[in-house]
Amino acid sequence: MGEFDLIARYFQRSTPPGDAVALGIGDDCALLTPRAGTQLAVSCDMLVEGRHFLSTVSPEALGHKALAVNLSDLAACGAQPLACTLALALPRADEAWLEGFSRGLFALADAHGCALIGGDTTQGPLTICITVFGEVPVVNGKSQALLRSGAQAGDDIYVSGTTTDHVGDARLALEVFRGSISLPEPAFAHARARMERPTPRVALGLALRGVASSAIDVSDGLLGDLSHILRRSRVGATVAINSVAAYARSTWATSQFSDKFVAGMCCAGGDDYELVFTAPPSARSALPAIAAATRTVLTRIGSIEAQPGLRLVDAQGLGVANDFASFDHFKV
Ligand code: ADP
Ligand code: MG
Repeated sequence: MGEFDLIARYFQRSTPPGDAVALGIGDDCALLTPRAGTQLAVSCDMLVEGRHFLSTVSPEALGHKALAVNLSDLAACGAQPLACTLALALPRADEAWLEGFSRGLFALADAHGCALIGGDTTQGPLTICITVFGEVPVVNGKSQALLRSGAQAGDDIYVSGTTTDHVGDARLALEVFRGSISLPEPAFAHARARMERPTPRVALGLALRGVASSAIDVSDGLLGDLSHILRRSRVGATVAINSVAAYARSTWATSQFSDKFVAGMCCAGGDDYELVFTAPPSARSALPAIAAATRTVLTRIGSIEAQPGLRLVDAQGLGVANDFASFDHFKV
């Protein structure tokens, strides 16, 4: 199977272009027509075998995850997904792999109305790079995008989840694969699904426009990603470790782990794709309806302060050392 057959068979579909997509796959460029009064939000994320995913993961899950991590960036900006491109390096044209991968990718793309409009295909070590394009309204000359830079002293800090999903789930699964812990079923199946098939919080991101003062999606670990908000907003924060970990302890329904271990999974686990956001206390009354409408649980975990730095406190309000390092590709 040649390169062009491969593209035609697995990635080019005869779906009509949407409102925003004037031209999809097949020419030198795709053409997007942003609606009047909107901005394009653009983000790209790369997944490399052995680095971002285990070689044992199913191609279908990988197709899902490759797009999910990108949609999560749009969610963090409060952008509505429009389209994506796919750059793919493949060791060989494995039809079963391509079939599963494209099925997983398109299932999630269709669920979010995100058209695949182009890409590049080459032979090489398995690497997947997706670029997503989303739409954000501009109101009275002001972008409605949620940024990392908008947190203000006095704001509350929240992390998203659901009644079953919590930051730390994905890392828990990774620790099982590494052999450092074991989990009973169905806890392992759930943690594994959270690692391999994360749910981008797109609806939540959209609902937080005009409500949240800043947002980021958790890819490298809750506290590390929150620190990006603090730096960009030139503020500090205090986070109550207990408020992050207590709920995980109940959803994980296992007593084998120490408090310290649970806190580590939740605060620095990574690969969560939940949203961390800040909002002024005046937004507290609006958040329950947003949580209900988006089927999420929004946990208040701390507050933004003028004093720079990240301070952690325990259930008694006593200071806790921050030794929850988050993931960094270039640190060993
Ligand atoms: P070019 O020579 O300009 O790089 P290609 O011949 O690589 O174009 O690709 C032909 C068409 O197929 C282009 O429209 C390109 O965007 C699209 N395409 C290539 N690879 C993929 C892919 N993996 N997924 C989706 N579209 C792709
Ligand atoms: Mg090309």
